[in-house]
Amino acid sequence: MKADSRIFVAGGDTLIGAAILRRLAASGHEGIVNGREPDPDLADGARTMAFFERNAPEFVFHAAGRSGGIRENIDRPAELMRDNLLVAESVVHAAWKCGARKLLYLASSCSYPRACPQPMSVGSLMSGPLEPTNEPYAMAKLAGVSLCSAYRAQYGARFFSVFPANAFGPFDDFRAESGHVIPALIRKMHEAKVAGRPFVEVWGTGKPRREFVYADDLADACIFLMRNYDRPEPVNAGGGETFSIGEIAELIREAVGYRGLIRFDPSKPDGMPLKSLDAGELTAMGWRPATPLREALATTYEWFLTLSPEVRCHAR
Ligand code: GDP
Repeated sequence: MKADSRIFVAGGDTLIGAAILRRLAASGHEGIVNGREPDPDLADGARTMAFFERNAPEFVFHAAGRSGGIRENIDRPAELMRDNLLVAESVVHAAWKCGARKLLYLASSCSYPRACPQPMSVGSLMSGPLEPTNEPYAMAKLAGVSLCSAYRAQYGARFFSVFPANAFGPFDDFRAESGHVIPALIRKMHEAKVAGRPFVEVWGTGKPRREFVYADDLADACIFLMRNYDRPEPVNAGGGETFSIGEIAELIREAVGYRGLIRFDPSKPDGMPLKSLDAGELTAMGWRPATPLREALATTYEWFLTLSPEVRCHAR
């Protein structure tokens, strides 16, 4: 990937896609296709193909597709699954048809089996039943991964998949109902601070453990892999340490400066008990995340504060 290579980030307005675009621009890439014309609706195969024919990207980061936190997955399984199936098909096919030299598909750690041995290694994919709260989304992501492998096997396309840990950062979905735990709790605690509420409700028991990765670090990992990786096996990209939801809630309380109490609501679902990625492959290649968690939470909160109160309530 040279400074003038044509690069397209599918889903450039998503948490991870936006971070990849920021990172590419900061490292002097001048051939970024995004922004030359409005992005097509990537769930529409014909429009996506026409866009690829006009722009012929050589390198494609596939970060498109709707995602959401545990509540969104329970409430909108059909929408999440359909959107991810459609964008996987349209972007992968158009990239191949229009001669993309490489494609990186962003999968999800939700796609590992619920009872997967920890830390989860790519050899465990498809070895057992999925977590029921996000099975349709996880299935769609697995279909995308399999599609990339199939295009590699049949056509020799240099397509591969990356399984990220739970990502967070600027441009995340900060709505309390649909967002993932970090943005949802940032918003809930900020609003509780402003309103002087005595406690904030945190879903579940607080015991599940998650591995988090700051979106800018994940973007860095994706660009590193695009430059250095070209094998059929998917790669895990994580931040290393895991935190319980109780611990992460405490760290968010600190970042936001909220003085009230954290109250767990065990009537809400916990989801997977533990998600920790075996990132040995990436580590062996020499990549490590650069941003300490506290700093990443503080930067994310600062970014949240730049949104107008209206946007904080209704949109990404
Ligand atoms: P998951 O990794 O797919 O389960 O994604 P989430 O980020 O949605 O949830 C992670 C964990 O945080 C789950 O155990 C949730 O029950 C818990 N959690 C606690 N409070 C919240 C909240 O306000 N929003 C979300 N999304 N999760 C929460």
